[in-house]
Amino acid sequence: MHISKNVSLRDRNSFGFDVSAEYFCSASSIDEVREALTWQQSKNLPILILGSGSNTVFTRNVSGLVLHIAIDTHRTSIEKNTAMVYVGAGVNWHSLVKATVSNGQFGLENLALIPGNCGAAPIQNIGAYGKEICDNLISVDVIHQATGETTTLTKSDCDFGYRHSVFKTAAGSEFIILGVQLELSTLDNPVISYDALREALNLSEPDADISAERVLQQVCALRSSKLPDPATIGNAGSFFKNPILSSQRVDTLRKKYPDLPVYSWTNGCYKVPAAWLIDQAGWKGHRADGVGVHDRQALVLVNHGNGNGKQIAVLANEIYADIKDRYDIELEREPVMY
Ligand SMILES: Cc1cc2nc3c(=O)[nH]c(=O)nc-3n(C[C@H](O)[C@H](O)[C@H](O)COP(=O)(O)OP(=O)(O)OC[C@H]3O[C@@H](n4cnc5c(N)ncnc54)[C@H](O)[C@@H]3O)c2cc1C
Repeated sequence: MHISKNVSLRDRNSFGFDVSAEYFCSASSIDEVREALTWQQSKNLPILILGSGSNTVFTRNVSGLVLHIAIDTHRTSIEKNTAMVYVGAGVNWHSLVKATVSNGQFGLENLALIPGNCGAAPIQNIGAYGKEICDNLISVDVIHQATGETTTLTKSDCDFGYRHSVFKTAAGSEFIILGVQLELSTLDNPVISYDALREALNLSEPDADISAERVLQQVCALRSSKLPDPATIGNAGSFFKNPILSSQRVDTLRKKYPDLPVYSWTNGCYKVPAAWLIDQAGWKGHRADGVGVHDRQALVLVNHGNGNGKQIAVLANEIYADIKDRYDIELEREPVMY
């Protein structure tokens, strides 16, 4: 394990912001994670855990240690129709999705092409096209930052919700995720309940015979057509969560905005697309300094090349205030601001 000083994080965050880490180290085993924690504690430095930086907005240089988790274990055991897959936190998520589907282990295909590493995937319970990681997750192996103790958290310990888990709470943020245990199926029976996916797949009958491989390809095509590639224009995907509103709130809003799209959610509530709210408010394509709102996807804030994280924070606050003012809805941010 090697600790470097004054390391640029420009290629380690999907916005491409040019900030630096006072100290940087990449740990590819549990022992190396422990070694890094011991070093950081002996120096009494703050620590920031980093995966691939696709959900992190750096607004300043990072003091202390940036610990990149690079554990790349991947093992599978198959019994009857079940494939138990264990992945280290450093494995790239999309590589895992492709590898499992091509090995006849199904269940992750709807989550294809989501950037990032497996260690960060449970943190916001990544989701897309009708599935979330919690649908296939059995447990998460973690190490406690202060004590160095390792534990396995079950799915129910993780308290998953829409873009939420225990890891987003004060207690959960004490853990570093080392690996994730997933349960996949060897039966090729993908979930195709999500309307936009069904439409793209051109399906009319509810029980159409579709392979996971085809779902994977279709999800990749949809995502590539809708979301800007961070390699071309820096971004962190959706910047705000879709608000969940009560039916009374939706009724009131629909009196003023009859076209407001809503999707039914649990407990009689509705999910409202944040992209629609932001688009209707006129933000799509907006530019301010070096940053802006993507011109085809109102939910994606972008770095036009010379922007920085402080400008993104200002823009996000302006959008938040405008949406609150217009619709009385308080948007919640998806990425982590540092
Ligand atoms: C173009 C684009 C599209 C996206 N689409 C989606 C989507 O459809 N659905 C979705 O849910 N998300 C989406 N995202 C968000 C992002 O891909 C996910 O949140 C992803 O899981 C982040 O992984 P990462 O390794 O890059 O995390 P990072 O940005 O490195 O880290 C995110 C947070 O997790 C913490 N963290 C990272 N690794 C660990 C670890 N091992 N232990 C403890 N804490 C850790 C970090 O400290 C930070 O707080 C998208 C992002 C982009 C850029």
